[in-house]
Amino acid sequence: MTVDWISNRLKPYEASIFATIGKLAIEHGCVNFGQGFPDFDGPGMVKEAARSAISEALNQYAPLAGALPLRQALAQKYQQHGLDYDVNSEITVTNGATEAMYASIMAICNPGDEIVVFEPTYDTYNPIIEMCGGTPVPVRLHPPAFAFDPDELAQAFSKKTRAIIVNSPHNPTGRVFNRPELQIIRDLCVTHNAIAITDEVYEHLTFHEHEHIPLATLDNMRERTITISSSAKTFSLTGWKIGYALAPAEATEGIRRLHQFAAFAVATPLQMGIAHGIERIHTLLPGLVNRLARKRTTMCNRLEDMGFNVFRPQGTFFILADISPLTDMDDISFVRFLIESSVKVATIPVSVFYQDQATAPKNYIRFCFAKKTSTIDKGLMQMKALRSLL
Ligand code: PMP
Ligand code: GLN
Repeated sequence: MTVDWISNRLKPYEASIFATIGKLAIEHGCVNFGQGFPDFDGPGMVKEAARSAISEALNQYAPLAGALPLRQALAQKYQQHGLDYDVNSEITVTNGATEAMYASIMAICNPGDEIVVFEPTYDTYNPIIEMCGGTPVPVRLHPPAFAFDPDELAQAFSKKTRAIIVNSPHNPTGRVFNRPELQIIRDLCVTHNAIAITDEVYEHLTFHEHEHIPLATLDNMRERTITISSSAKTFSLTGWKIGYALAPAEATEGIRRLHQFAAFAVATPLQMGIAHGIERIHTLLPGLVNRLARKRTTMCNRLEDMGFNVFRPQGTFFILADISPLTDMDDISFVRFLIESSVKVATIPVSVFYQDQATAPKNYIRFCFAKKTSTIDKGLMQMKALRSLL
């Protein structure tokens, strides 16, 4: 008899779209605009601070809550938003925002609970909710502006609503929720006594007039919000996996109960490096954001020249391109075609971020523009052949 290795809990979940496309991109020698990671390096001074920590023998377990200098740096960072978090009881360092989200949902979600999510939905939220016995309730961000309908959002809330997950700046659309939108979310949370879990990993990557507003700064929200972010995108160090959750002490207690079993602690020297970076964030960030803003404009313009309809992102480092002016193919077929034809460019199909495939839009693909100019030029040059191939 063969062994049935995969538990029933995990049977429904296959390899993530990012892993699948990443593998195909390597197999076919593609320029990779798929998985969201920069192909340029993070800041030297942050790397140097981590190297110093290793040299200074800071190589044993960090405290479960996280290295103190990092928790102190985070407390100071949030004070700039007028938010006071206690270093000992309200801040937890995790293995990336991914673990923070896992721990937060596990901490608050009981079987039968409903959790409202915006759709398209970043891939980790729904599986975790489902594994807790909860139900994700999707509310769509409608193209072309990728805004939610306030009535649809209100209808998604019920007696069963335990929480809402708010990812802004939003992956994959590039939307940054504005204050009136956040106010609507706030009012529903307060009325329904619901928790907000925010995913703010792109908090610093916003363009032009668009500004990230932490939901916890709205009236009466600090006491019902778990704020999650990570150093991955802010410092172009996705491989370091330093994330964190800031939440009221009781919520933090739940998050740490899960964290103690899932990971217990996070790499000490890397936490020291990120603490150093967060203390100097205002000198490190403007250069990165300006460079990304230029890449955003270049890539949007050139994709438009090729005939795509492009949503100019307000934040993140992703561009959603509507493929319908160019092809009748659906997004998954088109992504496969771009990889397997002579174009050799990898992107992410967006329909995979929807629950109901029958009604999901099938005409959007996502490009990551956190790439060197040479990578962008090469990929876009290869795409020029597209029209003649379609
Ligand atoms: N949330 C969103 C919306 C993301 O795009 C990502 C990818 N960086 C994550 C969470 C995961 O972040 P981390 O790498 O810190 O786990
Ligand atoms: N956040 C990255 C993206 O959206 C993917 C990270 C991962 O592979 N889980 O592309």
